[in-house]
Amino acid sequence: AKKPHIVILGAGYGGMMAANQLQKKMGTDRANVTLVNKHDYHYQTTWLHEPAAGTLHHDKARVEIRKVLNPAKVNIVQDTVEQVKTDEKQVVLKNGDDLSYDYLVIAVGSIAETFGAEGVYEHSYHKWTLDGARELKDQIEFQFAQYRNQEEAEEQDLTFVVAGGGFTGIEFIGELTERVPELCEQYDVPREKVRMYVIEAAPSALPGFDPELVEYAMNLLEHRGVEFKINKPISEVQEGKVILKDGEEIAASTVIWATGVRGNPIIEDAGIEANRGRVKVEPDLRAPGLEDVFVIGDCSLIINEETERPYPPTAQIAMQQGIKAGENITNLIMGGAPTKFEPEILGTLASLGGKEAMGTVKERKMYGRSALFMKHMSDNRYLMKLGGLSLMLTKGRNPL
Ligand code: FAD
Repeated sequence: AKKPHIVILGAGYGGMMAANQLQKKMGTDRANVTLVNKHDYHYQTTWLHEPAAGTLHHDKARVEIRKVLNPAKVNIVQDTVEQVKTDEKQVVLKNGDDLSYDYLVIAVGSIAETFGAEGVYEHSYHKWTLDGARELKDQIEFQFAQYRNQEEAEEQDLTFVVAGGGFTGIEFIGELTERVPELCEQYDVPREKVRMYVIEAAPSALPGFDPELVEYAMNLLEHRGVEFKINKPISEVQEGKVILKDGEEIAASTVIWATGVRGNPIIEDAGIEANRGRVKVEPDLRAPGLEDVFVIGDCSLIINEETERPYPPTAQIAMQQGIKAGENITNLIMGGAPTKFEPEILGTLASLGGKEAMGTVKERKMYGRSALFMKHMSDNRYLMKLGGLSLMLTKGRNPL
């Protein structure tokens, strides 16, 4: 009989773990596995606030896919997915020929959610990708580099506005507060010329975190010069400024958008039922009504049975889903039945720049260096799973 063809779209946390699982579990005599990704590298989205602010070199946050997957077992295709046709079981690629699949894993991640604010895609830095991080880093440096060469420097030039005081926005501003003093020194800019804002629409920053942790993070960041505007939805971003719903305008040449995500538009384009671009998947991670399509990571939505609300999309869940999707496809091919995905939430830790972090591990609150230590350990555990000891030693974090 013809060997089934398993196609994985996207080499993020979800896609890499699915491929890793399939190459372990499934012999090449049983199935063919193809992984399609835009780049020939996998990047760690959860680290991108660091290269974006310039506190870590971007090469540290990426890994060549061929170095961690076995090209003899997984066919690695560098291309951009343009369309998924579930009726014809085909994937349309930008450059190469269409791919036919027997099983599909969609793991193409997310894009910025604007919540109806205008001008976000045109006038803000909203791409949490490696390319996006590199561009933002250069923009920040450029603002400092040009400052002294202007006849009359504008206030907006050294004003940095982060839209969204959630996980991503807070992690980014934390890095920026560490980077700014360095840049001031390097470019002879007085520190008081730089302004940093975090603007949050909800009644609190870091929604979902314990109030004590929120207070810890906000105090620390305020000490480093961040100004918070809470309960202030943004209605529009224009060239050089943001406009709040209450009419206030803040002049800023650099606006960083981090208000949350929606599933990759490929999902809605494929006609798969979705909520903000995310597919509410069946317990075994398949898309409703599609027996051969698994959707994982930021493209998927799963409900926390305790709170009856969706889990926020995280790398932690994406990885676990990748492993489960790999297992379930193996089961199906071997004549078994797929099983239910049950996330195991080990904790949530946000870095705050320098040696600072905060969060919870197994419901225990953690602060400062010990929180950062735990975060780095968890990053290292992931690298270990992905590429073994050698990867962990070359790309891992020094937890001390
Ligand atoms: P991704 O990891 O984003 O991967 C998607 C992949 O698909 C990418 O490689 C991309 O290049 C590829 N792709 C996209 N479109 C196409 C296309 N059309 N064709 C081909 N390939 C394509 N989560 C945590 O659990 N802990 C954290 O501490 C944490 N910190 C974060 C910090 C930041 C700054 C950000 C932005 C996010 C953070 N998250 C964190 C969330 C986490 O990064 C995401 O939930 C996670 O990356 C989702 O994994 P994924 O596999 O769905 O997508």
